[in-house]
Amino acid sequence: MKYIDEYRDGAVAQVLAARIERTVERPMRLMEICGTHTMAIFRHGLRSLLPEAIELVSGPGCPVCVTATEDIDRCIRLARTPGVIVATFGDLVRVPGSRSSLRLEQASGADVRMVYSTMDALETAKENGRSEVVFLGIGFETTAPTVAAAMIEADRQGIGNFSVLALHKLLPPAMEALLADPDNHVDGFICPGHVTTIIGTSAYRDVVEHHHRPCVVTGFEPVDILEGILLLAEQIAAGRAEVEIQYRRGASADGNPGALRFMWEVFEPADALWRGLGSIPGSGLKVREAYAARDARLRFDLVVPPAAEPAGCRCAEVLRGRIRPPECPLFGRRCTPQDPVGPCMVSGEGTCAAYYRYRG
Ligand code: SF4
Repeated sequence: MKYIDEYRDGAVAQVLAARIERTVERPMRLMEICGTHTMAIFRHGLRSLLPEAIELVSGPGCPVCVTATEDIDRCIRLARTPGVIVATFGDLVRVPGSRSSLRLEQASGADVRMVYSTMDALETAKENGRSEVVFLGIGFETTAPTVAAAMIEADRQGIGNFSVLALHKLLPPAMEALLADPDNHVDGFICPGHVTTIIGTSAYRDVVEHHHRPCVVTGFEPVDILEGILLLAEQIAAGRAEVEIQYRRGASADGNPGALRFMWEVFEPADALWRGLGSIPGSGLKVREAYAARDARLRFDLVVPPAAEPAGCRCAEVLRGRIRPPECPLFGRRCTPQDPVGPCMVSGEGTCAAYYRYRG
């Protein structure tokens, strides 16, 4: 199949691995920001093809994992509100909050429904006119435009009982926050192809210009990832820091202006709380005043007390790329995908879940 088979060619992968080996002159730490890359790297066994000098670390690019405990508590508060149907993507229901999870609330009778798209949530609102349907808007720039489109469509159709709890995050400000940490030793970023298809490569300008770290926008097949690593290794070896596109079949400098138009029509930048990274200025999205009627924060009382991380969980350090999951004392013992303690073990894109699934 075009665009699939050619990027899964084992012989090409071996050639790329040999070129990486010849290019790397010193140890380098590369961060794959996105959880989809983390899973793909494990699934295809790519670490075993790389020289020891290349260390791959995972970053804060799993949307469920970076959702702060406090925000999970906010979702739970919503689920406990009489007359509210909470619509959400699947992984979020299993993430533990301070004392409960959406799944536990569901088992106790709360109306929490898994949906596959924001338009499904809109349909739920149409079919349940006596209830308030709140969609939990988590994710990065890939999902925010679709959520915005659903809110615009709700206005167009006059669906009054649909609102969104906006918990979206923006990736470039998080990369800059990571680099501002003196303990961070990332030499270059494997940037996500899908997010960049929306935001465009120009979004990484500050990372390369102010922080002098190369960024390579990379697809998700094994040949994509190895090619992306080779481009990064070449930049680092040459002392360059530029934005390069490996994922040419999807990403461009300008991104997707249509999707961005939807996103900025409904949302504006706001400070956001990230698990592991704290509050980062301008790294989230809030609903614009013109769409205040669709803003769940304004429609419901969602004030919750500050929340602590689960006892013993080291997700914060995993998300910063400071430790690998097996360094967490709970990994594989008290914390497993069946009985997760932290969100990095819950999500299909979580780093701890990837290490657990492909351990050994
Ligand atoms: Fe948190 Fe579990 Fe990962 Fe430890 S293994 S960091 S407890 S998710």
